[in-house]
Amino acid sequence: MRIGYGYDSHIFAENRKLILAGIEIPYELGLKGHSDADAVIHALIDSILGALALGDIGSHFPDNDERYKNISSMELLKEAVCIMEEKKYSISNTDITIILEKPKLRNHIDTMRENLSKVLKTDIENISIKAKTNEKMDSIGRGEGIAVHCASLLKK
Ligand code: MG
Repeated sequence: MRIGYGYDSHIFAENRKLILAGIEIPYELGLKGHSDADAVIHALIDSILGALALGDIGSHFPDNDERYKNISSMELLKEAVCIMEEKKYSISNTDITIILEKPKLRNHIDTMRENLSKVLKTDIENISIKAKTNEKMDSIGRGEGIAVHCASLLKK
């Protein structure tokens, strides 16, 4: 067993879709980034790479590489899963915390979990996604962006 931890944050921007865990969430703002800025998947990828001690998302998928411009982060996650499988590991479980003031994610959580479980090739019961506010504190509390924390356990 190996444990890994990942973190990511992105700032909200106009004229962008809000994509979290590969799901489009209806909202007036999206997240700014080189790819689709899916902070949930970016934190998840870093937790997987961290568990394997194989660097981070930036070393595998550089944000100055044109191949990754506006790419779906689901594609990056699929590549990270391939890297994990080459090392003969699979996901035991993953636990994700999303911190944002708006929008409310409650009605999307199970769709997000199901979407991730397919790519991670594991049961939905092994994928936890929690969303909470920052109690109006600091930049995230002012609704300027979001942060995501993720811990993943891998098994041989
Ligand atoms: Mg990111």
